[in-house]
Amino acid sequence: MFNVHTHLFTSNHVPEELLKLYVKWLPNFAIKRVSTFMNSNAGNFLLGWTNRLGNEPLKRYGNFMKFGYGMNVEEQFQILKAAYPKGTRFVVLMQDFAFISDYQSIVSFDDYKKEIYHLKRKFPDILLPFHFVEPRSIGYHDNPDRLLDPIKKDYERGFCQGLKIYPAQGYFPFDYRMLSVYKYAVENEIPVMTHVSKGGSRYVKQTSDADKNILKLDGKIYQTGLPKLGWFNKDYTGRAALFSDPENYEKVLDHEGLRDLKICLAHAGGDEDFNIALDNLKLPISQHKNNWYKTCLHLIDFYPNVYMDISFSLHNPDFLEKLIKKDFILGDDELKDIVMIKKKEHRRKRLLFGTDYYMTYTEFDSSVKNLSLIEYDLWKKAENILGSELFKLISVENPTLYLKSKKYR
Ligand SMILES: [Zn+2]
Repeated sequence: MFNVHTHLFTSNHVPEELLKLYVKWLPNFAIKRVSTFMNSNAGNFLLGWTNRLGNEPLKRYGNFMKFGYGMNVEEQFQILKAAYPKGTRFVVLMQDFAFISDYQSIVSFDDYKKEIYHLKRKFPDILLPFHFVEPRSIGYHDNPDRLLDPIKKDYERGFCQGLKIYPAQGYFPFDYRMLSVYKYAVENEIPVMTHVSKGGSRYVKQTSDADKNILKLDGKIYQTGLPKLGWFNKDYTGRAALFSDPENYEKVLDHEGLRDLKICLAHAGGDEDFNIALDNLKLPISQHKNNWYKTCLHLIDFYPNVYMDISFSLHNPDFLEKLIKKDFILGDDELKDIVMIKKKEHRRKRLLFGTDYYMTYTEFDSSVKNLSLIEYDLWKKAENILGSELFKLISVENPTLYLKSKKYR
């Protein structure tokens, strides 16, 4: 089986400034101190205590800190591997945080890549890294090959099996600088994974002039409408939502030659939006205004190779039981509806299993000693709810199709 959505990284790979997403008013001078403290023995001791005190949010956060501050990527991978049957393959989504904030991580993306490369050599068949794409690493007037070259090199030597993009970090997926990468992906059938949820990492840097007017894939100027951050406006989430909006992918897929791009919309729109969809189950689709879960479904229906994964969202049984089963399995009342039969037949091939390891651990009690058990329970529960037939489809057959490219079969 496959888990198409996992992460291996520690606090050394992420700029400390991302703490602002949790403590909005944290002044810059305190960031370093708080982070150093969390990384120290005293910080670990305090976390141990919060677990014993039984404070729920802190207790959950405690789990996250165990991975972020107490382990290396290989230890994280061993915990993941132990939660699955032998031979399970894992997509590991690499991420470059260099442009998300004014601060840099302790370990650069190039050095992080070396850590993952080292691990890939140890587990060549079961570890499938996805290369990160960050368009801001080149200028609009630079040779676009500068963005493509390292990706091409890593794909061709068999190190990477796909591409990861993360617009919430501060760029639009239809940025002109991405064009050669997308074209290369289409030519070689390389899968792309993108983040579609209002949670996770978000751009915490002040809006720059360069952020306000960008060039689209067609080379035309686009006014982004990105607000400036002020002392009273620290709406990182609202601003990042402009980048992450799944409707942005229409501008990518409608561009000449990119309609066949194989792209997976991770998290199915995220907790916030699928919860609204759950509350409005009885409403016809036309009345779901700008709901990201619904937009993801629309993109699957409309374009040939758009996928969706259930990662992170699968922690909520209602998401699987009431939305996924309703929208991906043919209902008894639809057995004679030819249009619906066709639609669901297509949708069933476009759903992927992934967990978002170890981001999901914030949803579970950190007093559990065997950390593999949390991951094991998560996928076993998903299998139980979805049924073995659909689960096999999304964890074996569909990922095989999604991952298959010129160099990877
Ligand atoms: Zn993720």
